[in-house]
Amino acid sequence: MQICWEVPVEKIGMWLKTAAKERDVEELKAEGWQGLLLTERWEDQEVGDEWLSWMSEWKTAPTHTRAELQELYQQLLPTKVYHHKKTGTNTGEDVKCRMCGKAAETQAHVLAGCAALAQSKYMIRHNAAFKVIFYELLKDLDSVTTVPPWYSQNMPKPLYENKRGKALWDIPRYAEHAEARNNRIDCTVIDKERKKVVSLEMSCPWVSNGEIKCAEKTNKYAPLRYELRRRFPEYKIEQQNIIIDALGGSSRRVNIPKIACYPGYLRNMFSFWSVSCSLRGNCILSLPSTKTTTYGLHSFSYMASKLWNSLPDSLRMSDFLDFKCKILQYDSFS
Ligand SMILES: [Zn+2]
Repeated sequence: MQICWEVPVEKIGMWLKTAAKERDVEELKAEGWQGLLLTERWEDQEVGDEWLSWMSEWKTAPTHTRAELQELYQQLLPTKVYHHKKTGTNTGEDVKCRMCGKAAETQAHVLAGCAALAQSKYMIRHNAAFKVIFYELLKDLDSVTTVPPWYSQNMPKPLYENKRGKALWDIPRYAEHAEARNNRIDCTVIDKERKKVVSLEMSCPWVSNGEIKCAEKTNKYAPLRYELRRRFPEYKIEQQNIIIDALGGSSRRVNIPKIACYPGYLRNMFSFWSVSCSLRGNCILSLPSTKTTTYGLHSFSYMASKLWNSLPDSLRMSDFLDFKCKILQYDSFS
């Protein structure tokens, strides 16, 4: 008997491609230091898949842009530390940043930690990304009809207002009811129909600092949320932190494309990614629903929310640095 194996010719190309891709990934992982950042990314369950979407979605990406992004992921940026530690071409002891002269010139410092770039390059990067989100919100409010692409020179006006609501771009709000030193949040949307005030704050930290940055932003604007609550007593007050790290990663829990579907954007997840304020106190977190009492009640998010809510208002309202000092002295049993 003759067995006829039918080979699906059209699939061979796809199989070969998959096999080659798997081989490339394995090779890169084995490269140790050069593959370290990428391996960490692949294995990080917290980071969503969008960080690599520019490779598949951005069809017209120039070759040099792709090459330079690869260079970043493989930690080959020619910084002083790189030359000192890896190529050996910097034999001196000086590895201080050429721009600020304060910290070691590492890739993380150049991309997200240099004070000399904060008001220039970082600001441009931040605004280019954030304005797209802001225009989407404006479109939802019927204030604009189109959303310009991130690379356009078009910048939003400071204020948009119509009968449905008001949207403010980077305008300081003067507080009457609280001492709000940090009153300049990225944008605030006052939705009259849905009776909701949403403040959005975006930042672009180094890959390992996402959670810290988010907590920092939440604490920073606690007095501002208090002020908004007093000023709009009938409205629901929300602050959403959008954290997209310097290599394009964002938490799986923050569904960026959903932002466009306001108000269903950004699920109400635990933690400091989303902060709704309740009337019981300042910055109370809503406890995440628990599916099982055995595991759910002991889950990190449940316990952490509970612990956070048990702190006095003065602690929850502090800014991040202040909080770090105060919490060490706080005795929960007193
Ligand atoms: Zn620097």
